[in-house]
Amino acid sequence: MRRKSSLSLRQRKDLLLSQLKIDPDLLRASFVERFSVCGKKNCRCHHGGQKHGPFYYLTQCLAVGKMAKFLLRTPAQQSEAKAGVAHYRQLQEQLEELSQINAELLRREDPLP
Ligand SMILES: [Zn+2]
Repeated sequence: MRRKSSLSLRQRKDLLLSQLKIDPDLLRASFVERFSVCGKKNCRCHHGGQKHGPFYYLTQCLAVGKMAKFLLRTPAQQSEAKAGVAHYRQLQEQLEELSQINAELLRREDPLP
């Protein structure tokens, strides 16, 4: 970033701003795949056999040490969750890059706007 010209940083900034879009279905969460053991002690899953699953969950960090998690039962829920998580991640990456560019312009004593 430091090797780039202020002009190219500004151009990148304009591009980022033109691409920024808040998806209404975004999710700040993780899409998690899990295999698990069941309650039947004589089941194969307790004796080195295949575990049950995959099961899909949406997990959210609400505060430090406070997680919310629920099972995504249907394929529709699963694909919406996956897409929502991806949208949020993309937005977060774009905001982070925008912030880095602004910090670099600030460091150079270039006006931000
Ligand atoms: Zn089992």
